[in-house]
Amino acid sequence: MPGVGTSRGERLGKLGVKTAQDLLFLFPRDYEFPAPPARIDNLVEDQPASLVGQICETEVVSRSAGKSVFGALVENDTGYVRILFFNQPFRAETLTRSTQVMISGVPRLSGLRWEFVHPKVTILAAGESMPEPKPLPIYPLTEGLKQVDLRRVTKSLSASLASELKEVMPGSLLHRAAEHLRADGFDFQGPLPGIAQAISQIHHPANESEMTAARLRFVFQELFVMQLALALRRRQLTTNLKAPTIETSAMIDARIVKRFGFELTSGQRQAIEDIRRDMSRRFPMNRLLQGDVGSGKTVVAAYAMLATAAAGYQSVLMAPTEVLARQHYETFCEMLDGSKVRIGLLCGSIGAAQRRDVLQKTADGEIDLLIGTQSLVSGKLDFAKLGLCVIDEQHKFGVAQRVSLRGDGIDPHSLVLSATPIPRSIAMTMFGDVDLSTIREKPPGRGEVNTYLADDQWRDRWWAFVRQRIDEGRQAYVVAPRVEATVSEDDDEAVEDVSSVQSVFAELSKDVFSSYRVALLHGSMDHTSKQSVMREFSAGRIDVLVSTTVIEVGINIPNATVMTILGAERFGLAQLHQLRGRVSRGAFAGHVTVFTDGPQSPEENERLAIFQKTNDGFELAEADFRLRGPGDLLGRRQSGLPPMKIADLTRDIKVLTTARALAQAIVEEDPQLQAEELKELKEQVMRRYQSRLNLGDVA
Ligand code: ADP
Ligand code: MG
Repeated sequence: MPGVGTSRGERLGKLGVKTAQDLLFLFPRDYEFPAPPARIDNLVEDQPASLVGQICETEVVSRSAGKSVFGALVENDTGYVRILFFNQPFRAETLTRSTQVMISGVPRLSGLRWEFVHPKVTILAAGESMPEPKPLPIYPLTEGLKQVDLRRVTKSLSASLASELKEVMPGSLLHRAAEHLRADGFDFQGPLPGIAQAISQIHHPANESEMTAARLRFVFQELFVMQLALALRRRQLTTNLKAPTIETSAMIDARIVKRFGFELTSGQRQAIEDIRRDMSRRFPMNRLLQGDVGSGKTVVAAYAMLATAAAGYQSVLMAPTEVLARQHYETFCEMLDGSKVRIGLLCGSIGAAQRRDVLQKTADGEIDLLIGTQSLVSGKLDFAKLGLCVIDEQHKFGVAQRVSLRGDGIDPHSLVLSATPIPRSIAMTMFGDVDLSTIREKPPGRGEVNTYLADDQWRDRWWAFVRQRIDEGRQAYVVAPRVEATVSEDDDEAVEDVSSVQSVFAELSKDVFSSYRVALLHGSMDHTSKQSVMREFSAGRIDVLVSTTVIEVGINIPNATVMTILGAERFGLAQLHQLRGRVSRGAFAGHVTVFTDGPQSPEENERLAIFQKTNDGFELAEADFRLRGPGDLLGRRQSGLPPMKIADLTRDIKVLTTARALAQAIVEEDPQLQAEELKELKEQVMRRYQSRLNLGDVA
């Protein structure tokens, strides 16, 4: 390639560029814009500016050997400026008197005159006015590689090779997408550019509109191909799998709702309608129900399970922990007291005989609702007539996988409950083939939670406040970051992290709370001690529970209303919010105060301020996503999706929405993608996603 020798070639290799095509698809990560236009009589020292004028005077001053200064006076109807170039005598050849130029740079006042030293100069035609600003690409670089080099190489390369690239996007789609995107507020002309034009424009756009259009084309393409794959997969699931149809009559609906003993919130009602519609179809429901802790998801799940039982099918509810499985079991027993519905419990602590009995009854169809822990229930169970499978994931980030409990061609409906709100763009990608119901409001009658950010000087007053609440009969949590024991090199002694929960416990119990009952809870304690601490706390025999985030998952203790979070900078927003959820369970107002270990960066303070202001888990999830990007979320789940090359899920949500809508429309019209104009596109979808998403052969 002209302009790329051995050493530059090696440097490009470090950016993953091995071929000319790779280089064409090395997209700029951003653009640089020329300084904004300004009037000379309005210039401000050191503030970059662009202006157009005519050269009216030039001079070259030669100094000692090889040293020179070239100066020129540029005039327009707003005044004069001087431009200066040191040791560039060749400037005199192009910058001659009467030449029309655009200059941009940083003005400085010298005496009474504005000066630009080494400005960028563009020669214009006589009388030509300010050209449209031309964005300059900024590429990712490695050592020894300069922006100017890359700009030059990509420019000549796209001029010579762009026309050879194969177009995969049908023209009609580029038109439709452009219409949608313009309606969404994007500013560019015409359809999204075809591949050759888009490649040249993304590397050297003539103006901002070309830059926008070219970037949009590639972002759209990347997201569209992914959404097409997801739409195809969804389509395959709905056509290949069979599920029992479960219809819920108005009478059954009324009977179920009566059991709850309270009015459903509108979010619950909406979710229930979604589920009723899904379960009445002949293919399996695949739905994720999200809502903050305490928003009433279990009730919705109970509805679905009872509707299933009414239709003569079994259902199973899997909880993440034994404690929660038992809690669910008790809730169900209480709610269904005196009804014909038969409930079974399967978890680690039940005896072998009882376990055999439950398994047998499940296989014989003598249990309608089976409740258990995920580890025990999954896999090896035999159901007589399984219709619905509910997974309560609490805070684990969605695993939302289809659970196949039976392999005889009938798949159960599947409902996953999640208390971790997922940002919209993530839901549309990672869960692109899952339907989503969301409960945003909480049932009425819940205590308010007040959140405070405090620095160290408030500690004593805060502890006094906590003691007061305890004296009134309430209980308190103190949450500290995890025990981080590190083993030092020369001896085997574990060195404990200073802010660890153990030292916090030691300190508080002999000082601030010396006359109260304080207990410690953390993840590395053995199972029985953990259980007994929780039992004591739950029974009100402990005033202050000093703990790691293990309390995040678990118990509902309405009397615990005050929470102190130490070292808050180490917790994610979602996690802080889950913690806060622990003190809004009862009718009393909750109070949460957040301390950090020492002063924090402005970004960190902003993050905590968002936490303090917002009590909506979904807003927090979006904020977390904006602040920290998708890395965390995507990393935690094996999404199976390839990393995005140009699309940015935190920024490109509107393009994603458009891509999704168009992909779904196309799969609906042409489920096999048989149209001739979709041939190349289909190949790209298959190349990228067939194995990742387990797509069958679409052809
Ligand atoms: P989640 O599973 O979403 O954390 P739950 O389903 O456990 O929430 O509900 C939390 C509490 O709120 C339970 O005690 C439940 O009985 C109660 N609850 C649920 N829905 C309502 C409602 N619509 N009105 C009043 N109380 C409700
Ligand atoms: Mg729950």
